[in-house]
Amino acid sequence: MLPGRRTRLRSTPATLALMKLETRAVHAGRHIDPATGAVTPPIHLSTTFERAPDGTYPRGFSYSRDGNPNRLMLEECLADLEGGKEALVFSSGLAVATAIVQGLEPGDHILAPDDVYYALREVIGGVFGKWGLAVNYVDMTDLDAVRSAFRPNTRLIWLETPSNPLMKLTDLQAIASLARERTKAITVCDSTFATPCLQQPLDCGIDMVTHSTTKYLSGHSDAIGGALITRYDNYLFERCRRSQTIGGAVPSPFDCWLTLRGIETFPYRMRAHSENGLRIAECLQRHAQVEAVHYPGLPQHPGHEIAKRQMSGFGGMLSFQVRGDEAAAKRVAARCRLFIRATSLGGPHSFVEHRASIEGPRSKTPRNLLRLSVGLEHPDDLIADLDQALG
Ligand SMILES: *Cc1c(COP(=O)(O)O)cnc(C)c1O
Repeated sequence: MLPGRRTRLRSTPATLALMKLETRAVHAGRHIDPATGAVTPPIHLSTTFERAPDGTYPRGFSYSRDGNPNRLMLEECLADLEGGKEALVFSSGLAVATAIVQGLEPGDHILAPDDVYYALREVIGGVFGKWGLAVNYVDMTDLDAVRSAFRPNTRLIWLETPSNPLMKLTDLQAIASLARERTKAITVCDSTFATPCLQQPLDCGIDMVTHSTTKYLSGHSDAIGGALITRYDNYLFERCRRSQTIGGAVPSPFDCWLTLRGIETFPYRMRAHSENGLRIAECLQRHAQVEAVHYPGLPQHPGHEIAKRQMSGFGGMLSFQVRGDEAAAKRVAARCRLFIRATSLGGPHSFVEHRASIEGPRSKTPRNLLRLSVGLEHPDDLIADLDQALG
């Protein structure tokens, strides 16, 4: 085992595990700096750590690619928040996806959602195309389709809920039990849109959870990162660990520090994102220039019943289709003054994005669709901006 792994910086108070998410978001994985008493953790930029005279590493760290105090704090915190056994953090959300796919054997079969985050298709079909992985993209909301897509060599079931950008809801409990009965596959849920505040995939029986921490968890659009959290020891998680420390896709100490700082406030931010998201979805729904709104908090949304059962709030992501064509949708985006035309999500600023044009020529996203990441501005101001942009 590499030095530094699993070394606890502070024995977490036994009672912390019983406390609420808001409390754990502030305390889990943290420790008072033993050298100075600093409450906010120092940023450990040192790439290397001293050995004892006998050649050992009594403080648990040897080299920052193998382990770094800021990274370890973030991993311990995320494992706690998801109710998992262990977490690994990577230099981006896609570095996590890459590590997972790389952990499979050539010829293994993957099931993934038909509307999976577009870059995952590029990882499976592009980066790992030469590995001869078999993959089926299925509608994960159709359990019969999922059941009939299983093969004897299915090793990975990738899930993403709510999905991007149509906000489809996958029943995690149903898929987890199907997978357990019928396959040897490991289930992984990309829970980026929900965060551990709105849903707990491991409690639904899912094996591992991933996040792009770039989004809500760090929450300020200033740090790229990814996380993988597992419910139990398994070979794929161990291969991802190797891919992190040997493959080297590690986040910087500063990015880990920023992400951990963002996590302190994320449960409160998620509440505000969810409140704003619902208000905007309801307004758009009534607007004459809007053809359809995709938001799981609306009773008309096909996944609303699952969302009510599976989530404790509906989040700040939604999309809507403008009456008219692609040009009409782009005109609405062009007229926004407060919503910033930018990709990504989960920060304090609200974003509007014409999704099909960033996803490239193979995108199946409707051409008249705009995706919103609803930020932390006052909802009245956001609604006024959309109103004037829709004309
Ligand atoms: C952004 C995003 C990713 C990719 O994460 P990066 O940090 O940009 O590499 C993966 N899944 C979802 C749902 C995302 O929104």
